[in-house]
Amino acid sequence: MCGIVGYIGEKEAANFILEGLKKLEYRGYDSAGIAVYDGKQIQVRRFAGKLVNLVNSLEEQKICGKIGIGHTRWATHGEPNDRNAHPVTGATGRVVVVHNGIVENYLSLREELESEGVNFLTETDTESIVHLIEKYMSLGNNLVTSLKNALRMVKGANAIVAFSSDEPDTIVAARLGNAGGVVIGYGQGEMYVASDIPAILGHTTKMSFLDSRQIAIIKKEQAIFEDLDGNKVTPDIQQIS
Ligand code: GLU
Repeated sequence: MCGIVGYIGEKEAANFILEGLKKLEYRGYDSAGIAVYDGKQIQVRRFAGKLVNLVNSLEEQKICGKIGIGHTRWATHGEPNDRNAHPVTGATGRVVVVHNGIVENYLSLREELESEGVNFLTETDTESIVHLIEKYMSLGNNLVTSLKNALRMVKGANAIVAFSSDEPDTIVAARLGNAGGVVIGYGQGEMYVASDIPAILGHTTKMSFLDSRQIAIIKKEQAIFEDLDGNKVTPDIQQIS
């Protein structure tokens, strides 16, 4: 279980995310990546090895955009190479997911999706989540409903953060069981999400934490919390010193 950082607001998402991922390096990891919506499409950059590979790539060619997610991976399914690094995309390139934890029923989900014609591009368990989200979105559901439907099928302890170029004003974060935490940070006209407090503490001290089976719908001005059954949850906004 490694690091997750996400940003939505008016600043460059990539700068925020890289800074946050650096603060989570102490946790150890084998690869790192970032996905940012550039106004037209989701740009993904991900590399095996140290964060410096990602930093160098972004210095060579920036990705500009105001919504994005990043990840440092500790591989459980699929070797630590560029292709298996997160963020993970599906068939459309319009949905992107970072994930901590293990999808315990990944093999049966993969077999079922493949029997429906889905082509897997990685060896990760994470990719099954992306394809499930895409499947429900293709049936006309929005990202939040699609993620909820997907998570009803997923077994195991997982922290998941995702966004879609179809709804580039929203990041969704979810927690199932205990695969590390999910913290949502409140800024001024911007919001943050991370697996761990240090990733965002330099930017805000106002934070809320997801419990198991809760989901946060994060926009730049606010976050709405629900459980997976759709019941509203009032977040406990804590002051972190
Ligand atoms: N199970 C996922 C993978 O192998 C996530 C690993 C992690 O928690 O970093 O890609």
